[in-house]
Amino acid sequence: MVHADPARPAAGKPLTPAVFFGHGSPMNALEQNRYSQAWARFGSSIPRPRAILMVSAHWYVNVTAVTAMARPRTIHDFYGFPQQLFDVQYPAPGSPELAQEVADLVQPSHVGLDGDSWGIDHGTWSVLVHAFPDASIPVVQLSIDLRRDFDWHFELGTRLAPLRERGILIAGSGNIVHNLRALSWSQPELGFDWTRRLDDAARAILTEKPSDAPKLGSHVDFERGSPTPDHFIPLLYVAGLASAAGRSLEALVDGYAFGSLSMASYTLDAKYPSERDPRPSAGLPDPARVPPEGTNL
Ligand code: ZN
Repeated sequence: MVHADPARPAAGKPLTPAVFFGHGSPMNALEQNRYSQAWARFGSSIPRPRAILMVSAHWYVNVTAVTAMARPRTIHDFYGFPQQLFDVQYPAPGSPELAQEVADLVQPSHVGLDGDSWGIDHGTWSVLVHAFPDASIPVVQLSIDLRRDFDWHFELGTRLAPLRERGILIAGSGNIVHNLRALSWSQPELGFDWTRRLDDAARAILTEKPSDAPKLGSHVDFERGSPTPDHFIPLLYVAGLASAAGRSLEALVDGYAFGSLSMASYTLDAKYPSERDPRPSAGLPDPARVPPEGTNL
């Protein structure tokens, strides 16, 4: 009798893991805390990917596109943070080859090849500086097409699954709960009741039946927890990959920041040591100077 391991396709080559990063404040790029340590643990424990395909909350536009330049620029798409954060560079190469592979794979859906408008935004580099600090693995970003519904994004995620057989690490970066207007500045490790309810509902679905992830949009707390869906949608791509593989996701790290952010991250087919760092998520600019919804975190 043949032992069937869904993480190991017939050809015998293991599937590259996938991951959803809950990125929170861009300041996490500069800090060592339990979240950034978990991202580092993930990166250092998986086989080196050929390239990374990243769906970042911060490329939310009215088109489906991939970055196709050989040398993507580091984009500092936020306001009110210290100069040290604006000085961060993530000089990973691009991969025009991977961009073309993505465009070919998802036909008949059209994916535009972006030669100069985007690059590597902070949803991508704030986590990759920890996961892959030497910036030597090529990075391609896939935009979030704001015209599409949750089922469409989930389904597109399932169609990216063959890339996992080709050594591509597919990652989403956002936050399952993300309400900047409701942030509680004085409570860096707090999750409001509604934050916890939505985050718990997501955990139950992701770890048991990821194909139900689009249904989170009708959860009673979704409107409050994700008033703009840009930070939620990257999760649907990773849930789609899990569904395509017939597997569920595993929690990499969980927790809350400032009441209305879930810092949960999830992995697919990854194994890593389970050390814990007690330090909380990174801080934010002074709200008297820059209002939370003006930070673009
Ligand atoms: Zn963000």
